[in-house]
Amino acid sequence: MRRSGRRRPGWLSLLLRSVESAQALHRHLGVDPGSILPVIQRYPMRINPYYLSLIQNPQDPIWKQVVPDPRELEDPQGLEDPLEEEKHSPVPNLIHRYPDRALLIVSNRCAVYCRFCNRKRKVGKGPPVDPGTIRDALDYIRHHGEIREVLLSGGDPLLLPDEMLEGILTELRAIPHVEILRIGSRTPCTLPQRITWGLCRILKRFQPLFLITHFNHPKELTPQARAACGRLADSGIPLACQTVLLRGVNDQKEVMAELMQGLLTMRVRPYYLFQTDLVRGTAHFRTPIERGIEIVDHLRRKTSGLCVPHYVLDLPGGGGKAPLTPSCLMEVEGDHYLLVDHEGEPRSYPRETGNRIKANSRG
Ligand SMILES: *Cc1c(COP(=O)(O)O)cnc(C)c1O
Ligand code: SF4
Repeated sequence: MRRSGRRRPGWLSLLLRSVESAQALHRHLGVDPGSILPVIQRYPMRINPYYLSLIQNPQDPIWKQVVPDPRELEDPQGLEDPLEEEKHSPVPNLIHRYPDRALLIVSNRCAVYCRFCNRKRKVGKGPPVDPGTIRDALDYIRHHGEIREVLLSGGDPLLLPDEMLEGILTELRAIPHVEILRIGSRTPCTLPQRITWGLCRILKRFQPLFLITHFNHPKELTPQARAACGRLADSGIPLACQTVLLRGVNDQKEVMAELMQGLLTMRVRPYYLFQTDLVRGTAHFRTPIERGIEIVDHLRRKTSGLCVPHYVLDLPGGGGKAPLTPSCLMEVEGDHYLLVDHEGEPRSYPRETGNRIKANSRG
């Protein structure tokens, strides 16, 4: 059967109209092409028409995420691959850092190219991931019985056509030891049109399957994004969100609280808040860890516990994710712990309660 007669999905038509050249960016946003050209020769640009429509002003939080910045080329300290993902790849495109979970890169394309991406070295470059690479990675998973969970990542797995995604999920589901599937996709935020009912019907067949999306600012919580998350949630797909803490985008308590509360109303549970990795070309987005701790502490005290993500740092050198937690345990003093409550007041809690209860019950 010839496929060429089939109508191109709406999301793909949108994607094909993306801003990808310095001239197009100049036409749409008036940015000087000369300053952008060297940046996009190194790190590709893609701003699809939907995400472009969210930009209201130069340097607003949407702009900063996707419009290239000359500072990307002035970051001597950043590393290409700070998490040493390549070192933890037993076969190409598969990262096996934790024994029971493996991350499989099925696509190197995205609906937009985020300027702060931690796989900046890879996204939007070179040929698409080839089926042979995916086949070899699936073989590796098949032969490693300790892998209980597979994360499809990228790039963005949902940039693959439905049939290809369905093929990969079918193969994974046929592996008895793979209990949990996870898809990491920014499309609910950056191209919500991708979340069609057709896609939802496919995903629904591979439960338990979690979709982890990625929103960074309340301006991204549009009616379209809400509807996309609604279609997934109505299809029984549990949703969670990974957010990256970005200077000048979401490094304010009020902004972060609004984002997390808004996500929850869209049935998306905040999961991780990432400290920016030491990726080359992203230094201008980095915030001090103290700032992140303050923000999470604010969320903890002022909003629903369901709104509070784990603030984590993916340790340089491939050490995995380390939680960055505001400590409520101030000190241990003799026979009690001293803690701080949600208003910042000290409270105490006895130590070795178990022993004492035993002693009391005897006497
Ligand atoms: C983050 C990550 C995972 C998943 O970790 P969780 O803490 O379970 O979300 C798995 N593999 C790699 C390589 C990762 O970077
Ligand atoms: S969508 Fe994700 S993988 Fe793609 S550029 Fe943005 S952060 Fe990177």
